[in-house]
Amino acid sequence: MTLLLASVHAGLLLAGWHWGWPWAAGGLTAVWIGLTACTLYPHCRLFGSATRCFPCASRSVILTIDDGPSADTEEVLALLAAHEVRAVFFLIGERAAQRPEDVRRIVAAGHLVGNHTQTHACYWYWSFPPWRQRRELRQCQHTLSAITGQIPSLFRAPAGLRNPYCNIIAAEFGLTVTGWRARGFDGVNNPLEKILATLRRGLCPGAIVLVHQGRPQAPEVLRRVLEMLAADGWSTTLPDAWLPPRQCAGAQPSGL
Ligand SMILES: [Zn+2]
Repeated sequence: MTLLLASVHAGLLLAGWHWGWPWAAGGLTAVWIGLTACTLYPHCRLFGSATRCFPCASRSVILTIDDGPSADTEEVLALLAAHEVRAVFFLIGERAAQRPEDVRRIVAAGHLVGNHTQTHACYWYWSFPPWRQRRELRQCQHTLSAITGQIPSLFRAPAGLRNPYCNIIAAEFGLTVTGWRARGFDGVNNPLEKILATLRRGLCPGAIVLVHQGRPQAPEVLRRVLEMLAADGWSTTLPDAWLPPRQCAGAQPSGL
């Protein structure tokens, strides 16, 4: 990607030399507007894909829960157990280190744990240079694998925002970049009915569903989402490709 960007810039410099600098400046502006737009649009595929759906003929979806662990973890787990649902928890490393028992409870209940960076710098992660993204992923991998004995294989960027290096660095850690197909923007203070209606519009067979924990109305949102899925005839599943988790080899996880 670095080589590609360098080539584009070199090409624009050559164009400026041949046809005039206004052309080069215009081209440079267009390139950076395009890069910024893709960075701020989570579903943009220019920098690599983020899995949003799995091929699925049945009426099944994959539930993912971001931003834990948090004080509501026990309540969240109880809701999932009541509905016999297994989910993927995209956990923040710093919070996991503060609540290791919550992380162990999540895994013991049969859920998967994914990397959601160490600090969850949701406003700035998209602007991080490669070395800093690498540190975020490495620290979170260490934190989660030290607690669970399993090396996460799934990654979700904070707010889903990715720059040109994000997928490349995730691949270095063997992480699959995971997006979503259905969400209700429950991370902000939207009315519950609006959250449900928005999320419902994104549902389709194999869709990855995104909700959050750690917010005041999070358990209620989850309860209503689970009830809505059941009422609409949707079951939940975990793709075979995500199972089983990679086990740590001894005390020190390999590949980190
Ligand atoms: Zn998040």
